[in-house]
Amino acid sequence: MARVWNFSAGPAVLPEPVLEQVRDELLDWHGTGMGVMEMSHRGKAFTGIIEAAEADLRALLGVPANYRVLFLQGGATQQFSQIPLNLLDGASDGRAADYVVTGTWSKKALTEAQRLGRVRCAASTEADAFSRLPEAAEYDLSADAAYVHLCTNETIHGVEFPADVVLPTAAPLVADMSSHLLSRPFDVSRFGLIYGGAQKNIGPAGLTLVLVRDDLTGRAAPQVPGLQNYAVEAANGSMLNTPPTFAIYVAGLVFRWLQELGGLSAIARINADKASALYACIDRSAGFYRNPVQPACRSQMNVPFRLADENLNASFLAESEAAGLFGLKGHKSFGGMRASIYNAMPLAGVSALVEFMDDFARRRG
Ligand code: PMP
Repeated sequence: MARVWNFSAGPAVLPEPVLEQVRDELLDWHGTGMGVMEMSHRGKAFTGIIEAAEADLRALLGVPANYRVLFLQGGATQQFSQIPLNLLDGASDGRAADYVVTGTWSKKALTEAQRLGRVRCAASTEADAFSRLPEAAEYDLSADAAYVHLCTNETIHGVEFPADVVLPTAAPLVADMSSHLLSRPFDVSRFGLIYGGAQKNIGPAGLTLVLVRDDLTGRAAPQVPGLQNYAVEAANGSMLNTPPTFAIYVAGLVFRWLQELGGLSAIARINADKASALYACIDRSAGFYRNPVQPACRSQMNVPFRLADENLNASFLAESEAAGLFGLKGHKSFGGMRASIYNAMPLAGVSALVEFMDDFARRRG
């Protein structure tokens, strides 16, 4: 078996012990004579799996009792419309929602919400090519916003809010955490709603996690479909329809793996070491590699960078793949390269990348 170091942005690398356990249990989960993919979602075995997954996630994140944990589908993209459908207009007595735009994903969220309700752009760093977070003075937040939406880690531009983000607003914060949920501890109670697709830092594609404070459910207009209504989904324990059972099972194993590692403080230390090794490599290359993001806002999970000589891109990619380093091509809208170094990427993988990059710069610089 030859596994590569996989730096894909998502779907992405999963922890090897989790994949091994999945393999071992694939045909017969705990003596039931069937695999998880083959089980009824309403049976005793799967009920135990989803309940344990929720309990472990709550323990890892310290989710307060007045928040619902929903295991949904449709990806973060579905949430771009589900959030306004539940929290805007009818639900907000005509009040608008404020959107903070710091990269492609928060911009997409804003665009989608604009189709469904009254929405304002409360800050944007697009004029600076999304290379930083807004300064405090740049926020134009309305006093009566229904909610304030932000993307706390922009996967393409590599811009990340600090874990203790504070915005000058009393409105509930609604955060897209798709690409860094579970990468570090943070205070869930500072947010009204947190969401993310699983396929980056949590588990397989097909599962979308939503953590929503009780008072933000039950506000959707009557015509909002049940499958789009947080209150209905919560009342049905995420089983209004068949949930993504296999993805929930694998995510549950990832939660256990994180607990055994020592929880979110432990993984945050490892993630900080990985990120600082990679940024140090970029910064000491005397301009051979460049990351355009202001150092204080650099993402610990997604590290985009460009080669000063773009003519070397093809050889960088070919040679890195030959060295067992996979998935480094940047997003098409950004170009260059991107290394996604999620929880499941060990320090050894980042060290292998750094060694390759140093060597490539020496040979081609
Ligand atoms: N938000 C962020 C921050 C993302 O990185 C992505 C996917 N790359 C999305 C939203 C869209 O997610 P999905 O494909 O799960 O709908």
